[in-house]
Order: sequence, then structure tokens, then C-alpha cells
Amino acid sequence: MSVLVYTESDSGKFKKSAFEAASYAKEVAAMLGVAVTAVSINGGDSSELGTYGVDKVLEVKNDDLTNFNAKAYADILKQAAQKEGAKVVVVSSTADSKFLAPLLAVHLDAGYASNVVALPESASPFVVKRTAFTNKAFSMTEMSTDVKVIGLSNNAFGLKENSGDAAAEVFEPVLSQDDFSTQITAVDRASDKVSIADAEIVVSGGRGLKGPEHWGMIEELADVLGAATACSKPVSDMGWRPHGEHVGQTGKPVASNLYIAIGVSGAIQHLAGINASKVKVVINNDPEAPFFKAADYGIVGDAFDVVPKLIEKLKEFKSNNA
Ligand SMILES: Cc1cc2nc3c(=O)[nH]c(=O)nc-3n(C[C@H](O)[C@H](O)[C@H](O)COP(=O)(O)OP(=O)(O)OC[C@H]3O[C@@H](n4cnc5c(N)ncnc54)[C@H](O)[C@@H]3O)c2cc1C
Repeated sequence: MSVLVYTESDSGKFKKSAFEAASYAKEVAAMLGVAVTAVSINGGDSSELGTYGVDKVLEVKNDDLTNFNAKAYADILKQAAQKEGAKVVVVSSTADSKFLAPLLAVHLDAGYASNVVALPESASPFVVKRTAFTNKAFSMTEMSTDVKVIGLSNNAFGLKENSGDAAAEVFEPVLSQDDFSTQITAVDRASDKVSIADAEIVVSGGRGLKGPEHWGMIEELADVLGAATACSKPVSDMGWRPHGEHVGQTGKPVASNLYIAIGVSGAIQHLAGINASKVKVVINNDPEAPFFKAADYGIVGDAFDVVPKLIEKLKEFKSNNA
């Protein structure tokens, strides 16, 4: 028996969310007194998973699976769970994992709890803590099915180093034609920049920046920090920035370690998408802006004055600490 974890990768490299899911799976496995088995589909160097407590890696190498395919991936995870006798399967909360998790739960006749933010309160009964109402509340969910699929919220648990053997084993699941009834035939990346979902740091701009011509300083700040850029809804609606950067209730969710909001008022629909971020820094010239109530650090000031100074200081700090 083991806890199974799906370790997602992109272009042959494990995502940060894979290491977080492995860290979480390790601690659930310790609670249950079992080992951790990871499933890697055309993934990275399996030994990396050992650092986060994985004991065994089922490696699937298949050129037909280069692009994500929810049906086929769910079938692979089902077969892996059955082979390992796994009663708990951990997946991340990326768009891909949120797509495959319900399919997997159906395959395994399992319960699926999404947006889980902590280790189970208890193993028997199996109770997990999840966010609800776009991160405004928590719900305690008791899972009474024999097999349980857990969708771990990004950045909720963090990375925890732990030793594991990560012994690699070739895994060749049996796939049917039906698994490939829908396929992604090509992926055209809009940008090579770090994606908002995977970013550790996100620099976001709002209508307070007055126009697209002022985004140079947002991009420069993001470059200095190695961050992704994001924006509020009106900014993308007005065509100042691409729609892929819109975050919030109707945009992308952000669960970064650091979220810097510049000239964003902090409307409830914007906050709904960024509540899961760890540290929020707000730069706004209106001390009454609602965002300050949700901020960990706030700077009351004109963005056109504050941001260039911040960039200068960060560059100075980086060159002194290179
Ligand atoms: C159904 C629905 C869904 C929505 N979904 C989303 C969503 O997903 N995401 C989202 O973002 N919004 C969403 N909205 C819109 C949301 O309600 C707000 O209107 C929007 O977030 C406001 O964007 P903003 O903060 O950029 O602009 P504004 O509200 O215009 O705020 C601009 C801010 O910039 C500050 N500012 C101005 N000049 C400067 C300066 N020089 N320096 C520093 N600060 C300055 C101002 O003080 C102000 O706080 C939704 C609305 C609805 C009704």
C-alpha cells in the first residue's frame, strides 16, 4: 500500500507544484504508515522527487503523451493506484490536475476533495480542510469513500525536504484508443515568461497606471524580481494588457509567495483571485483604497514615484549581493 502522488511536469521538468504535492503526500503517508509512490509522465529526473520524500517513481515514457491528455492521464493514474493499492491519491490544483482529478475519482469510485490546504485533521475519520467561497471561508470535509483523491491548493503546504529513495520503475499502462479520442495536437505558447500560475512572485498593475504606455516599469520590476506580470480586469478589458494576465474571480487565480499590486483598488472580485497568495504588498496613492485592508505591507504613494525607486533599490541590492 502507498499514497500515490501525480507529479506534474512541463517540457521534461517537474513543476514546483509537483514537489509540493510530493511533500504533502509524504506527510499523509507518514500519518497512515505507508510509503509514497509518484507517477511521472514524461517527467524530469526522478531522483529530484526523493528530496521530497518519494519512495518509488512509476515512470511513464510515451511520445503520445507529450501534451496533456486528461482521459489518458486519468487512466494511467487509475492503473497506478490499483497496482500500488493506493487509498489516497494526491494531485495539485493546476488547471490540468483539476481537469483530470474528477475523471480519476470516477475511475476509482473515489471521493474528490479539491482546494485542500492542510494535512488531514485525522485519518479515521478522514477529514480535510478546504477553502470555500473563493478563499473567504474554510470547510471541513469528511471523506468516507474507500479511495480518496485530494487536490492540494497551490502554495498551501509548501515544499518540505524529506529523504526518500525515489527508486525509478518503468511503468507501461495499457492505453486504449478511447483514451486518445481528444488530443492536443499543438501548443502555441503566448509567451516564454513564467506563467502566473507557477510564479513565485507576481507584479500586478491596475487602472491607476493610467495607460498601457506605463507598463514598462511594471515589466522592469517583474524582470528584476524574476516575477510574472498580471493585471486587473478593466486593464485587460481596455486592451492595455493581454487577457491571460487578468487575475481575479473571473480571471486567473494567483497563489504566489509574493503578490505586488500597483494602482489596483482591491475590489472584492480582484481579491477573490489572489487571496491564496502568501504576502501581499500594495502600492496605492489613496490611503483609503480597500486593498490596504488585505495587505501585509502597504505603501501609500504615487506609483510613478514609488516604483522607479523600488526598481533602483532592488537593482542596487542585487548588485551588492551578486
Ligand atoms: C461580475 C464581476 C466580476 C469581476 N471580476 C473581476 C476580476 O476577476 N478581476 C478584477 O480585477 N476585477 C474584476 N471585476 C471588476 C472589479 O469590480 C473592479 O472594478 C476592478 O477590479 C477595478 O480595477 P482597478 O483596481 O484596476 O481599477 P480602479 O478601481 O479604477 O482602481 C484604481 C486604483 O489605482 C489607484 N491609483 C490611481 N492613481 C494612482 C497612482 N498614480 N499611484 C498609485 N495608485 C493609483 C486608485 O487609488 C485606485 O485605488 C469584476 C466585476 C464584476 C461586476
